[in-house]
Amino acid sequence: QADERESMFLVSEFANEFFHKKLLKTEQGKAIGLSYFKERGFSMETIEKFDLGYSPDVWDAFTEEALKKGYQLEFLEKTGLTIVKGDKAAGSATKKFDRFKGRVMFPIHSMSGRTLGFGGRILNNDKKAAKYLNSPESDIYHKSKVLYGIYYAKQSIAKEDNCYLVEGYTDVIQMHQAGIENVVASSGTALTPEQIRLINRLTKNITVLFDGDAAGLRASLRGVDLILEQGMNVKVCAFPEGEDPDSFAKANTQEDIQEFLQQNSKDFISFKASLLVNQAQGDPIKKAEVIRDMVNSISKIPDRIQQEIYLKECTRIMDVSEEVLYSSLAQLMSKKD
Ligand code: ATP
Ligand code: MN
Ligand code: MN
Ligand code: MN
Repeated sequence: QADERESMFLVSEFANEFFHKKLLKTEQGKAIGLSYFKERGFSMETIEKFDLGYSPDVWDAFTEEALKKGYQLEFLEKTGLTIVKGDKAAGSATKKFDRFKGRVMFPIHSMSGRTLGFGGRILNNDKKAAKYLNSPESDIYHKSKVLYGIYYAKQSIAKEDNCYLVEGYTDVIQMHQAGIENVVASSGTALTPEQIRLINRLTKNITVLFDGDAAGLRASLRGVDLILEQGMNVKVCAFPEGEDPDSFAKANTQEDIQEFLQQNSKDFISFKASLLVNQAQGDPIKKAEVIRDMVNSISKIPDRIQQEIYLKECTRIMDVSEEVLYSSLAQLMSKKD
């Protein structure tokens, strides 16, 4: 089992080198992949640091090369880099092809820097294909336990005693290039307790940065309760409409970004309370719902003193009496015990 995982790591690391070389050393890679990254504003230094790559627009370029180099099909398949169609056992012919054909590649690293899997972005704006494709779950790649960029961010997270959590690969990369290195991404999946635990080892402070497209802002807020449960301090910062950390960092200097983050990061509980109260717009039924929702978030905070402080804050923002909040919190807490 340990040997199998090691073989999968070796295949992933070979793939990483293969894609990186294709990006920098082939005509197609330079014309399509490299110019794409350049257009996004990534410097050569950044491209090298994050080991970005290009998977040739050929059905089986990677698979062929890997087999030629002696890597076993079993591990190419188990890492998901190669897809095999057709059933050998049933006697039908099989066909092997590259999962990431024609995409620019973002290798995903573990805390210690090993290559676990990949994200691949499509280049044309073909609406039929997914914009990003990821490695499938495997013995070495568990989506729910990985944070993109953690290997590059860990030192800075500890030093700054704060972690910025963003949505995508390019957000992490562009923030790094701008000089802000305590940034990781959950890469499209809902935040999980395991991901939070990874950060919790390095700092107690998380700032969640939301794309300014409000796509499920409320749904994302729900994920934040998981962070509270682990006793962490959570701030949130929404970006201007139509912007994400990538576009914002690309267009601004490090000082401007720092200033924006400082001025717009709000304590999560207060942020959520204001947002919900606005949504309820004086409707008493909605407001009651919103209050319950808030109290539920506060009930996740393990520290009683912190709970108390937040309850007071909510009383002010939501314009309800302390007694109401206290009694509904007490009710919730007794259910949990
Ligand atoms: P880009 O700037 O390259 O268009 P993005 O990172 O801004 O990408 P978003 O649409 O904001 O992309 O999505 C955030 C993250 O969600 C992505 O980085 C990616 O990890 C994931 N994601 C987005 N679209 C898809 C998709 N179609 N399939 C799978 N994952 C996706
Ligand atoms: Mn290199
Ligand atoms: Mn985005
Ligand atoms: Mn983007």
